[in-house]
Amino acid sequence: MRVIGLTGGIGSGKSTVARFFQELGVHAVDADIVAREVVEPGTQALARIAEHFGKNILTPEGALDRAALRQIVFEAPAERQWLENLLHPIIRNEIRRQLWLDDEPAPSDYPHQYVLLVSPLLLETDQHQLADEVIVVDVPVETQIERTMSRDQNNRDQVERIIAAQMPREDRLQKADHVVDNTQPLAVVEDEVKALHALLDANSVDQRS
Ligand code: ADP
Repeated sequence: MRVIGLTGGIGSGKSTVARFFQELGVHAVDADIVAREVVEPGTQALARIAEHFGKNILTPEGALDRAALRQIVFEAPAERQWLENLLHPIIRNEIRRQLWLDDEPAPSDYPHQYVLLVSPLLLETDQHQLADEVIVVDVPVETQIERTMSRDQNNRDQVERIIAAQMPREDRLQKADHVVDNTQPLAVVEDEVKALHALLDANSVDQRS
């Protein structure tokens, strides 16, 4: 099974483009969702975190209090390191599992030659090692800011800070095998996704024959 990475800065349209692929029946794994799943109530990771940081890190309902955790690791780099050492391998293994790269094989009736790994930090982390090819969803920074502000009700400062912490647009584009220009109307973007999907599905058939 080939893995195609789908990335882009905040507000570039990753989720939107991923949805178009999913509507074509492509299996997509979202790294952000996996990162939340591995610390859901009942997980070993959450138990370890509560053991390490104390019960204050949990909400009254027993879920992870993300704001409290953010505050702790923001103030203490060593704690951030501890948390990353714990979660990194767990997230990585779970992404691999959901991509059908490990024990659990792809369903025998899965109709396509590839699966999608959707991640804002695909290129910044070792997640890109999982990807055979990379799709970058691209818009100018100003469009990223406007769309994120209207989606999240964030102010411009917050969005600019997040963008500054991500890979610069030019560097990201340089690493792309395919670029989706998401300044276009959604119907046009959807057609581009269909064309890209046809290419990605056909390529793997060629490689196998
Ligand atoms: P990401 O997942 O990369 O953060 P989203 O897919 O959530 O980005 O898109 C950010 C916002 O921009 C969303 O509100 C989405 O509906 C909107 N959006 C995405 N693509 C387009 C487009 N081509 N034209 C107009 N709005 C768009």
